[in-house]
Amino acid sequence: LTTNGIGLITQAKDLYDAGLRRINVSLDTLDEAKFEQMTRRKVLSKVLEGLQEAQRCGFDPIKVNAVAMKGFTDDEIVDLAKFARDNAYQLRFIEFMPLDADDIWGRNMFIPGKEIINKIDAVYPLNPVDMNGDAKHDPAKLYQFDDGKGDVGFISSVTEPFCEQCNRIRLTADGQLRTCLFSITETDLLTPLRAGAPDETIGDLIIEAVKQKEAGHQINAVNFVKPKRNMSMIGG
Ligand code: SF4
Repeated sequence: LTTNGIGLITQAKDLYDAGLRRINVSLDTLDEAKFEQMTRRKVLSKVLEGLQEAQRCGFDPIKVNAVAMKGFTDDEIVDLAKFARDNAYQLRFIEFMPLDADDIWGRNMFIPGKEIINKIDAVYPLNPVDMNGDAKHDPAKLYQFDDGKGDVGFISSVTEPFCEQCNRIRLTADGQLRTCLFSITETDLLTPLRAGAPDETIGDLIIEAVKQKEAGHQINAVNFVKPKRNMSMIGG
């Protein structure tokens, strides 16, 4: 489950009892004022308590997904690494991508993954983890802390696209199949499902959609087209 973590304090136990074990919490800042500015809610403490509750329940791993933005949260990169190390969360830094609701993405706010790695490495030395076998489909490049206190991942989708290895498709909450985060078209599965279409028909629709899967995003191309629906609308 990927979540903003606000409801974990009350729901973590039920989710765990229902069989869920792996959880990703999106948390870009540890600063209450910045958190409120970003999310329009004053609930940072709830998220932090929710993370603790998830740990108490036994979730493993607990991943914290963070997006660093230049001039806004870049001064917290090392703080977030310390926070994750101290609490045994697996931190993942994701490069800021043009899927934001406020349409503020731009090179002036963008920090390359490499720069984030260097900032952490200067304080907490890092060693790259060999990623072969199934791990090569993992979008995060993992680094272990040299002192053995956990690891940190970097998802550098913009500067080091891994689209050639991508085996992901996603189904939105409103029944649309997307074959890429940056798809500008979707395959409607909701309508045929509601009309009682047999499994074979739905299967054929999925196969046809996957055959058209994008070769990759075009973020760095001049003809890049930002998808109409932002990250929060397509399921994070
Ligand atoms: S193909 Fe699309 S979904 Fe897959 S890694 Fe590239 S941008 Fe992400």
